[in-house]
Amino acid sequence: MSRLDRVTVLGSGVLGGQIAWHSAFKGKTVTVYDIAPQAIERCRATHDQLAAIYLLDVGAEDTDIAATRERLTYSTDLAAAVAQADLVIEAVPEIPEVKTAVYMEMAELLPPDTLIATNSSTFLPRDFASATGRPEKFCALHFSNMIWAMNFVEIMAHPGASPLTLTEVTEFAVEIGMLPIPVRKEQNGYVVNTWLVPFLNAAQTLVTNGIANPEDVDRTFLYTGAKFGPLGMMDMVGMKTVYDVLSHWGRENDDAQMSANADYIKQNFLDRGRLGVQTGKGYYDYPDPDYQRPGFLDVPDFSVVPDLVSLISPSEGN
Ligand code: NAD
Repeated sequence: MSRLDRVTVLGSGVLGGQIAWHSAFKGKTVTVYDIAPQAIERCRATHDQLAAIYLLDVGAEDTDIAATRERLTYSTDLAAAVAQADLVIEAVPEIPEVKTAVYMEMAELLPPDTLIATNSSTFLPRDFASATGRPEKFCALHFSNMIWAMNFVEIMAHPGASPLTLTEVTEFAVEIGMLPIPVRKEQNGYVVNTWLVPFLNAAQTLVTNGIANPEDVDRTFLYTGAKFGPLGMMDMVGMKTVYDVLSHWGRENDDAQMSANADYIKQNFLDRGRLGVQTGKGYYDYPDPDYQRPGFLDVPDFSVVPDLVSLISPSEGN
């Protein structure tokens, strides 16, 4: 057994909510902290949905769900939330200034032995190591969305991380049922996001530039047998995080297309409250998105040919 029994998750959004629930389900005593009371309320609702998913798909019993709830505490008080923590997992927005500010505020409040792991998708642990005030006790532990099914985590060090920290964090990952993926060098994007961000960005480019409609973009991927396409995947990631990643890296890499994609997400989703699965609306409406509808991939009959042809404009190039 690892000594990391009391876990505090910073940020109760899409991933923080899942990490907190899953860790509690696996026997950890968990506090979920968020700066926003309404985010905590949303997290509680998400936990009700996760309870149903764990009963249905993970083989949980009612008693497991009750015990999971018993082990969970929700807080908007950072000092109280971290006072007892053996491990803090940071899952606040993918915005470097926000992460740095949280680490600096927390540095004064943590017990001396507490370890910290970032769930960042695209930033290097070294970017935040000194802000934590304890670089040797800090590394990256990157979970993937739908944690109960995508049960792997990427573990990344930075030059100041101690071997003991990496060992204890990896043991923690195994204890909560995760397959650890060692990332052998620091790299923005780690393993998953090295391919996922360009994949989602490419799909978004097709929509931003008016090349194909969203459903058709997803159809071309669903033919591989996948359960959802890249735009359905964006709904799961959550439009806020998709926007944070595309806007940051569009700016950083001077990538005009990526920045245009970020603007599209802002105007069409964030500004309209369509934040993805978490709010029931994104590219699709939930809980019954069109891509799960029978017939979504069926060959149409002749009657729809005029509608299809009307979408094929004479080629004018870009
Ligand atoms: P999110 O926007 O859904 O949630 C972020 C939460 O942090 C919100 O509830 C927000 O209120 C809260 N928050 C904002 N400022 C805060 C502060 N100063 N202190 C505490 N809480 C604060 O974001 P997310 O999608 O859950 O992403 C969180 C992190 O996890 C990011 O680093 C992201 O890259 C990473 N991640 C996300 C996914 C995904 O699929 N969404 C997958 C893997 C990793």
